Amino acid sequence: MIFKRKLLIPKEIKEMYPISEKGIAAKRQNDKNIEGIFTGSDDRLLLVIGPCSADREDAVIDYISRLRTLQDRVEEKIVIVPRIYTNKPRTTGAGYKGMLHQPNPQAHSDMLRGLISIRKLHMRALNETGFSCADEMLYPENHRFLDDLLSYVAVGARSVEDQQHRLTASGLDIPVGMKNPTGGDLSVMMNALRAAQSGHTFIYRNWEVETQGNPLAHAILRGYVDAHGISHPNYHYEDLARLCALYADSGLQNPAVVVDTNHANSGKQFGEQVRIAKEILHSTRHNADIRALVKGMMIESYLEDGCQKPGDGVYGKSITDPCLGWEKTERLVLDLADLWI
Ligand code: PEP
Ligand code: MN
Repeated sequence: MIFKRKLLIPKEIKEMYPISEKGIAAKRQNDKNIEGIFTGSDDRLLLVIGPCSADREDAVIDYISRLRTLQDRVEEKIVIVPRIYTNKPRTTGAGYKGMLHQPNPQAHSDMLRGLISIRKLHMRALNETGFSCADEMLYPENHRFLDDLLSYVAVGARSVEDQQHRLTASGLDIPVGMKNPTGGDLSVMMNALRAAQSGHTFIYRNWEVETQGNPLAHAILRGYVDAHGISHPNYHYEDLARLCALYADSGLQNPAVVVDTNHANSGKQFGEQVRIAKEILHSTRHNADIRALVKGMMIESYLEDGCQKPGDGVYGKSITDPCLGWEKTERLVLDLADLWI
């Protein structure tokens, strides 16, 4: 390993790019709304929605500005938390690792520019649209570069069995969605929730730290891939009923699931997300326990349908997982607002 250069610490980058008073107030209100959904005092549907990866600032801000208009139309039924995913886990380690690594997807990694770019993007989103967004907590030690800007984080399918992710989640004051692992073993996810809801003492950024446990840590079902590489969904009625039973035996606080409609649930057939989202709502209408458990959905959506190779350069089209384009997204969100009771 070559130590190339020492980077700025979160405090230094935050001093360079401080959050505005208006931004602080907007995040506080967003956090309150989202917390209400997880604790059950707010009955609205949470939509964590946006591109698989935030590849370029202009298209992401354009997309999120459209979400703002949409949010205002559906605010009685739906709370939107845009996905601004700035770091991407890669199955084999190869390929685009997100804006943190490559602020320009065509160029080599530049981690200092990356750290500044992801902070600036999340700040622009908050200042210009009032959204404090969601990101994946892929590198727990990096969370503090963005902790004053985020209202939701996910621990991904490839990270959920990792102790440092679980312990860090236990110290956050925002909801942390913990995904089922790629192989689908729900006990791994439930163990992650138990760890995240408990207090711990551990080493974080060279500090001895203590956490109280995060009562807003909850499950995300994202489907799974079997030993033969075949995708299987876990969003159906029976899957949700099984998760209700696991929660009932667990003693965990605030039982909750956000269902990921893409990834192995759609087999990356992005267009299926529309049908999947509606099926989940249908399941909530047939079972009061499922209705109480389902708090929201995670949807991969961007300006254009599908995906492209990073070099293709189409504005607003995903360079990682295929996404639902804007027209279909808008229709879906309006339909969900009508259907959610
Ligand atoms: C994602 O949300 O884009 C993602 C990488 O999810 P998962 O960890 O479920 O693969
Ligand atoms: Mn994805």
